[in-house]
Amino acid sequence: PVVTRFAPSPTGFLHIGGGRTALFNWLYAKAKGGRMLLRIEDTDRERSTQAAIGAIIDGLSWLGLDWDGDPIFQFARAARHREVAEAMLASGRAYYCYATPQELEEMRETARREGRPPRYDGRWRDRDPASAPPGIKPVIRLRAPQDGETVIDDEVQGRVTWANKDLDDLVLLRSDGNPTYMLAVVVDDHDMGITHIIRGDDHLTNAARQKQIYEAMGWDVPHMAHIPLIHGPDGAKLSKRHGALGVDAYRAMGYLPAAMRNYLVRLSWSHGDQEIFSTEDMIAAFDTGAIGRSPARFDFKKLENLNGHYMRASPDAELMDAIDKLLPHIPGGPELAAKLDPPMRRKLTAALPGLKERAKTLIELLDGAGFLFAARPLPLDDKARSLLTDEARATLGLATTRLETLADWSAEAAEAAIRALADETGLKLGQVAQPLRAALTGRATSPPVFDVLAVLGREESLARLKDQAT
Ligand code: GLU
Repeated sequence: PVVTRFAPSPTGFLHIGGGRTALFNWLYAKAKGGRMLLRIEDTDRERSTQAAIGAIIDGLSWLGLDWDGDPIFQFARAARHREVAEAMLASGRAYYCYATPQELEEMRETARREGRPPRYDGRWRDRDPASAPPGIKPVIRLRAPQDGETVIDDEVQGRVTWANKDLDDLVLLRSDGNPTYMLAVVVDDHDMGITHIIRGDDHLTNAARQKQIYEAMGWDVPHMAHIPLIHGPDGAKLSKRHGALGVDAYRAMGYLPAAMRNYLVRLSWSHGDQEIFSTEDMIAAFDTGAIGRSPARFDFKKLENLNGHYMRASPDAELMDAIDKLLPHIPGGPELAAKLDPPMRRKLTAALPGLKERAKTLIELLDGAGFLFAARPLPLDDKARSLLTDEARATLGLATTRLETLADWSAEAAEAAIRALADETGLKLGQVAQPLRAALTGRATSPPVFDVLAVLGREESLARLKDQAT
C-alpha cells in the first residue's frame, strides 16, 4: 500500500509551494487508496517554532488536506537517528572523522581556488581512530562508494545520474551527537514505511545522498517524484509580489479552498485540457507521471478567475460558511462578524446571488455587501454623489412615494412600480434606477437595484431613499 508524507520544516508559514507539495502527496495517497503522513522536521531548534507548527496545521486544514495518524516530530526521534548512525559505524558503512575546522576550511579554500564545489577528501576513511588528535570530538561520516554512479529513476525527472566521485562522504552525526538532516530524513522515511516521496526538485541532489544512506543500510529506496518549483509569471524565482506567500495570505485575500486546490493542482500537473477539477476529479485523475518538468508559473489572474467560478458555483449556505470562516482573519472582520445577527445574516444570504456575480474573491464580495451594513445616513462615494443631482433627488422623491404604496415588498413589485413611474414621467428606466442605486448603496454599481430593495426591506430602503430625496 502507498504511503506518502508531507515533511515541512516549521520555520515559517505554510508557503504556497508547500501547500502544493502537500496537495500532491495527499492526492497521490487518495488516488492509490493509501495514506499520507505528516512529519514536522523540527530539528533546527533555533528556527523551529510552535507558532510555525500551528500555522502549517492551520494552513493544511484550511486547504482541506488531512493526514493519517498523529504528526511525527523529527527532533523527538534523535535517539533513533543516532542508533542508525552507530549501526552503520559497526557495519563499517560509516566512520569517525576527526578533521578539524581548520582542515575543513583548507579543503573549502582549495576547492574555491580550483573553481569546483567543496568536498571532503576522505582523509579519515581508512585511518585508525587511535591516531586521532586529542580534544577533537569526531563526526560520523558515511563511507560512500567512490566508484560508479548513484542513479535515481525519478517519476518526474526521469533517470538522473551522479558520478560517485563527485559525492563526498557526508556527515551523518555531528560532533555534538545530533543527526544531520540527511540522516534524519532517511531514517524517518524508512521507519514510517514511506513508499513514495513527492517533494520540490530543490531536493533532487539530496535524493542522491539519501539513496547512498538507504543502500548502506540495505533498505528499500522509496519511489521519488521531484516536482518543479513554482516560479513567478516572468519565469523568475517566485517573489512576494508574485505570490510567494503563505497559504494564510490566500485565505485572507478571500480565495476559497476548493478554488485554491484546483489552482494548485494545475501547477505542473495536467489532465488533458481540463481546467476545472472537483476534489473527486482530482483524486480520480492524479498521477505523478503527468507532472511536467518545467517550472510552473504563478498567475494571479488565473487564480482569480477560478475563484470567481467557484464562488458562482457555490451554494449560498457554503459561501456564508466561507465568509464566517474568513472574518476572523481579515481587518475589520471581527467587527463585521459582530454585526451579523440573524436578520443581517438573512439579508446577506438574500444578497449573495447578486453579489457573487460581481466578485472574484470573498473580499470583493464583502466589499460589495458593504451597503447592507452601512449605517444611515449612508456615506456616498464620488460617483454616487455625482449621480444625485437636484433633478435626480426630485425623481427619488417621486419614486419613494410610489414605493411607499406597495402592498407587497418584493423585487418584482418594486420593478413594476418604478417602470410605471418611468413611463408616466417619460424618463428612461436608468434615470430612475441609478439615483435609487446611489441612495440605497452609496455607490454607482451594485447588484440589480430591485434586488437591493428587496434585500434591504421596506423600512430600511424607504429611510435611505428619504435621506437623499427632495
Ligand atoms: N523539510 C524539508 C522542507 O521543508 C522537506 C524534506 C523532504 O521532503 O524530504 O523543504
